Amino acid sequence: MEEAIEEKLPLINAHAHAAMVAFRGAGEDLPLDKWLKDVIWPLEAKMINPDFVYEQTKIAIDEMRKNGIEAFMDMYFFEDSVARACEEKKMPVVLGEGLIDLKGEDVFNKDLERTIMLLEKYKSHPFIKSSVAPHSPYTVNESNLIKTKKIAREYNCPYQIHVSETKKEFEESFDRYGLSPVEYLERIGVLDDKTVLVHCVYLTDKDISIIAKNNCKIVHCPVSNLKLGCGIAPINKLIDAGVIVALGTDGSASCDNLDIKEAGRLSSLLQKGINCDPTLIPKKEIIKMMTINGMRALQIESVVGKTIKEIEEKIEKAY
Ligand SMILES: [Zn+2]
Repeated sequence: MEEAIEEKLPLINAHAHAAMVAFRGAGEDLPLDKWLKDVIWPLEAKMINPDFVYEQTKIAIDEMRKNGIEAFMDMYFFEDSVARACEEKKMPVVLGEGLIDLKGEDVFNKDLERTIMLLEKYKSHPFIKSSVAPHSPYTVNESNLIKTKKIAREYNCPYQIHVSETKKEFEESFDRYGLSPVEYLERIGVLDDKTVLVHCVYLTDKDISIIAKNNCKIVHCPVSNLKLGCGIAPINKLIDAGVIVALGTDGSASCDNLDIKEAGRLSSLLQKGINCDPTLIPKKEIIKMMTINGMRALQIESVVGKTIKEIEEKIEKAY
């Protein structure tokens, strides 16, 4: 039998917290807020430092490569260590120093300075680039979200943020603002074609048209969403609305394997199954999600010497 096309194309992991490979298996079977507050955040407070992130990211890169992944977008802490690991392993990456202001403005401002340092340092690098990465609308306040988007616009770089990951987040946003998380982000002016919305499990039809109108990119992380019991993102509706949907693993603690083929297969099966429609998310669409849509989310024109156009032509020829 001929080798499957996805075995020959460079795959993109559009959302990772690579160094979390160290926490694989930590806090199994917990809901997201409990998992973060009781397990992950205390572990991170105790363990992470620049060397830890460097060493663990190298392990994650080896695992991603083994699974055919040739570029990824990261969101974590000490991203200069992620850059060091990627430089050494010659792995293309979009860095994202995770920004949270829950621990106070001082911590936030320091991380923001680090973000700007990374944007400056890697603006001409051949395969390392940086993004602006506020963690979510519920962990970064309105003025800081606006401030971070202004920086992203100055550097013309991706702006990645977790959005509408859980029902709780979705409902609390209505309680707080009378708006869905996506409506809120639109109101404060941070949505555009460089904005990468990660998860989007809970979306109204209005949210979908807002995302399409603003040309935002979506990163779907089906394994993480299932493992944390968050739900299933309506990616068939997003794709129908013309939105570019890429795939991510999320961190190893919530997805186990850094495997985009697994994410692709699952994303298609889930939509076919829950909608009782085997025509949804055809193979060609999955291959695009695993490859060129990821490149578009990362805003990279080529990977391992192959351009988006060349890869797209190969996919069109195969299907
Ligand atoms: Zn994530």
